[in-house]
Amino acid sequence: MSGLAERLEAVRSGVADAAREAGRDPGEVTTIVVTKFHPESLIRELARLGVRDIGENRHQEAQAKARALADLDLRWHFVGQLQSKKARQVRAYASVIHSVDRDSLVDALRSDESTVDGFIQVNLTENPERGGVAPEALEPMVERVLATPGIRLLGLMAVAPLDEPARAAFARVRALSERVGAIAPAATALSMGMSHDYRDAILEGATHLRIGTAITGNRPTGG
Ligand SMILES: *Cc1c(COP(=O)(O)O)cnc(C)c1O
Repeated sequence: MSGLAERLEAVRSGVADAAREAGRDPGEVTTIVVTKFHPESLIRELARLGVRDIGENRHQEAQAKARALADLDLRWHFVGQLQSKKARQVRAYASVIHSVDRDSLVDALRSDESTVDGFIQVNLTENPERGGVAPEALEPMVERVLATPGIRLLGLMAVAPLDEPARAAFARVRALSERVGAIAPAATALSMGMSHDYRDAILEGATHLRIGTAITGNRPTGG
């Protein structure tokens, strides 16, 4: 994992530069390091370098890592598509679920005992397989989350489509976020921006970046 500290530092300064360019305080942008497919040892190294927010996209892998690294003071972010039947298990270790996108999942996350933070994922493509609610269906989903005990709505999450400039896609999310704000004034956070487009995301108001390879290096297998 040589170069990890250097890559982390490069992203930290890239984030700070983009925030300044946007006239924003870099302190209002949280960088989540997405560590899927990487070993626990890499996450330990990241923790030593001051990283607290870790993202994973598959339940089994995330659960195993959260258990093995329970001695570290980490916040786990679940960023992948989530089956309703796994929802309760995920909320047991995740602080934030970025991929709330279906009625059945919202219902499965209901709890009278504890609260998990959630983003509603919006689908910016025409392909329903990509995960996320269609923009037309956004308001009813916001209403449903607000009416469900046990989930605190933070805002919207999106992945930029490949066939559109990222900045334009993130501007669409920002506009959708204004619609959400009309119903849920506290839900103004924006989870958007990955290794190749985080600068554009910051310029369009991202509060949570999900950055993998720019920090971790290439993933060991697939993904
Ligand atoms: C893997 C992943 C990321 C990080 O992607 P990189 O291109 O490696 O930065 C961000 N968001 C989600 C939902 C992911 O699955």
